[in-house]
Amino acid sequence: MKSHVKAVVIGGGVVGCSVLYHLAKAGWTDIMLIERSELTSGSSWHAAGGFHTLNGDPNVAKLQAYTVQLYKEIEEISGQSCSLHLTGGVMMADTPERMDFLRLAHAKGRYLGMDTELITPSEAKAMFPLMDEKNFVGAMWDPVEGHLDPSGTTIAYSKAAKKLGAEIVLRNRVVDLTQQPDGTWNVVTEQGTVHAEHVVNCGGLWAREIGRMVGVELPVLAMEHMYLLTEPMPEVEEFNKSTGREMIGVLDFKGEIYTRQERNGILLGTYEKACKPWSPVNTPWDFGHELLPPDLDRIAPSLEIGFKHFPGIEKAGIKQIINGPFTFALDGNPLVGPVQGLTNFWCACAVMAGFSQGGGVGLALSNWMVHGDPGFDVWGMDVARFGEWAGLRYTNAKVRENYSRRFSIRFPNEELPAARPAQTTPLYDTMLANNAVMGDSWGLETPLWFAPKGKEPRDIVSFHRSNDFGPIGEEVRATRERVGVTEIANFAKYEVSGPGAEEFLNRLMTNRMPKTGRIVLTPMINEFGKLIGDFTIAKAGEDRFMIWGSSAAQKYHMRWFEKHLPKDGSVRIHRFDQTLVGLSIAGPKSRDLLQKLVDTDISTKAFRFMDFREMAVGGAPCMVNRITYTGDLGYEIWMAPAYQRLVYKAIRDAGEEFGLVDFGMRALLSMRLEKNFPTWFRELRPIYGPFEGSMDRFIKLEKNDFIGREAAAKEQAEGPKLRRVSFIVDAADADVMGDEPIWAKVSKDFGTVEKPHGYGAPRFDDKGEEVRGSKAAEGASAVRGIVDGDWRVVGWVTSGGYAHYVQKSMAQGYVPAALAEDESAGLFEIEILGHRRPARINVEAPFDPSGEKMRT
Ligand SMILES: Cc1cc2nc3c(=O)[nH]c(=O)nc-3n(C[C@H](O)[C@H](O)[C@H](O)COP(=O)(O)OP(=O)(O)OC[C@H]3O[C@@H](n4cnc5c(N)ncnc54)[C@H](O)[C@@H]3O)c2cc1C
Repeated sequence: MKSHVKAVVIGGGVVGCSVLYHLAKAGWTDIMLIERSELTSGSSWHAAGGFHTLNGDPNVAKLQAYTVQLYKEIEEISGQSCSLHLTGGVMMADTPERMDFLRLAHAKGRYLGMDTELITPSEAKAMFPLMDEKNFVGAMWDPVEGHLDPSGTTIAYSKAAKKLGAEIVLRNRVVDLTQQPDGTWNVVTEQGTVHAEHVVNCGGLWAREIGRMVGVELPVLAMEHMYLLTEPMPEVEEFNKSTGREMIGVLDFKGEIYTRQERNGILLGTYEKACKPWSPVNTPWDFGHELLPPDLDRIAPSLEIGFKHFPGIEKAGIKQIINGPFTFALDGNPLVGPVQGLTNFWCACAVMAGFSQGGGVGLALSNWMVHGDPGFDVWGMDVARFGEWAGLRYTNAKVRENYSRRFSIRFPNEELPAARPAQTTPLYDTMLANNAVMGDSWGLETPLWFAPKGKEPRDIVSFHRSNDFGPIGEEVRATRERVGVTEIANFAKYEVSGPGAEEFLNRLMTNRMPKTGRIVLTPMINEFGKLIGDFTIAKAGEDRFMIWGSSAAQKYHMRWFEKHLPKDGSVRIHRFDQTLVGLSIAGPKSRDLLQKLVDTDISTKAFRFMDFREMAVGGAPCMVNRITYTGDLGYEIWMAPAYQRLVYKAIRDAGEEFGLVDFGMRALLSMRLEKNFPTWFRELRPIYGPFEGSMDRFIKLEKNDFIGREAAAKEQAEGPKLRRVSFIVDAADADVMGDEPIWAKVSKDFGTVEKPHGYGAPRFDDKGEEVRGSKAAEGASAVRGIVDGDWRVVGWVTSGGYAHYVQKSMAQGYVPAALAEDESAGLFEIEILGHRRPARINVEAPFDPSGEKMRT
């Protein structure tokens, strides 16, 4: 065993071996994988070996597609077969709602280059004759599904990595990790200490324990999972013989089961409601190649439905039941990337579908380690997406909820109840008393909308307009015509201070920093010229700036800030989290209301649009921004939590004469739509350039050499390929939810774009070839067009909904720049739940396009 390497990968499951392979392939060959026992000694060896490309997050779906493409490559390099069976598979819907869900998934596939097809239950039965098709209303066919040999695949990755120069050390547990003053690591193992620049946690079932070695509690938990194997079945053999084909994979939402052919019989697995965590606090180090005792009672309800839906299977004898543990994060997606607050400590764990995701995880992580950037939009699996609130107990409750809902539909207006409330502001009880329907915003309870008095405050979940439609409309109208108040504690808040603060922010942000007492809006981009943040920044004092941004991105942004912090201590950065909370008042009467609560002049001239001031509001020390996301006259008021009730009561009392109402997050989002304002993570993401995102006026290329300036200048000079645009949609009773395809009937050939995914760092094309240089940085590649007569898919929706004040259904999304700039060039349709609805580009914000109301 070497005593010094560039990187140590801990764990020889499918994920660790994939990371090792990708690091070696990227040119880091001085690397070592250390495995406690033999390879596949965690969950990898007893997996059912299924793979598929579908995922709720389109970006994760793309990395799954890459994983499937990769198998041929590692087979060739290693000479080891993965026993790949590319059978294709169907998802079966038993209700109209589940069929709507499939329609949405199918529509998304149009711009993701996926070849899914909606089919009838009879068509599905022809490919899997063991089902009773009368139980279903429809299905979706996906050709890129199948199964493989889990151990063979893991070995193939490991052999391919070794061929490229990587070392693998078996039967050697990592017992401790200690960081050196220079940021490198001492990896203490049973066979001695290895010094490494980087450490990767691929510990699978023990990832949590490895996290604890460095003081991190990762939000990951193992769950017991069962599947059964039948005896050989004559029906299966007969089908194979008569068609010359293997039976396909089937996923049944209602039964929460998946099933496929295994040899001459059937494999059937369940995600049962009565699920059970395994080793909820500590994972025993001596657990090895063993299985857990089967518990048929637990899966009996799923089996009952399964046997009804697939009567052909009921008759077969059960040969074996496998019960094994595997890990999940809170939302079922992996935890990948550098851990904020630590140097060179990386994660690739909580990978619950290692054979669908392992390749993509390995590629993204190796890009990140070698090139400083994952090269893809990996937010959906970034380890930074959960906060400190996701501790052991929270994780336990949320993972159980996620497991038991694995195949359940999540409606766009559905808030999940487990582990709530976690964090609350001092106004929580008051908001409940006001009949608020609360939602979870990065672990914080936040009012979404207010149910009318006497009505139960709860959402009726639906893909269509629901019971919140009327009340949100009331909140919007009252705010637009009079004045409304809402909680904004769920924004991220930071303070950057010190003599180097301004220079630091000027280097990170695309806009100029404001003068003292003023505010700017500014995107942040990476060196590849892609959007990685969008902030409101106020200069609070000579060397002091206040920053507000996206709540969910707090750790993601802190990681970036810390990475670029000068080493000389001239800049300090503080994240407030919930030690600073806020209220926003908006609407034409908001100034009259605020004037009653402050002792300074806040007239138009004295307190201008985009001014920042520290002042007492209702007697409480506050920071006040003259700005609001409603795009109207309004204010954001920030205070310590101890003062929040005082300020809220003062606002309520003073607001009575103006007809003040409470409004929630959904009304706020409706109002931002009619102003064409974008949201972070929806419209603005690291796959788009700032000009593509239509953020032109915030990009000051001439100001100084900020990070990404060169790439942004190039984007501007060459012209953006895409443009974010706003649409008015002729919707019926359902508005867009996000991710719908945009169709156009075009008079000229503008080309068809696939949603950008890779950028910057090396990535791989559809044939698994590495794409480097300018082609890789292009991101958007012209791929297969989806054509229907004169119509074709030209873009995708990022978000939208009903804009209540202007009474229009609205959507934002991306289309080729040429189409966005020439309004007469095309007719548009947006596909909502399988129906294409006429839509037109809306250049000017329908509410207050000149911004006059905002500035008065
Ligand atoms: C019953 C069942 C069915 C499944 N079916 C499927 C399926 O159909 N498709 C699919 O994609 N996935 C399936 N999975 C999930 C799949 O098994 C996992 O996604 C995958 O195994 C995760 O791999 P991993 O490398 O992250 O973790 P693991 O396989 O757990 O590997 C972690 C490795 O790290 C080693 N290790 C841990 N700590 C240390 C240490 N301190 N020092 C040295 N070594 C250490 C362990 O010994 C182990 O070998 C299934 C799982 C189960 C249990």
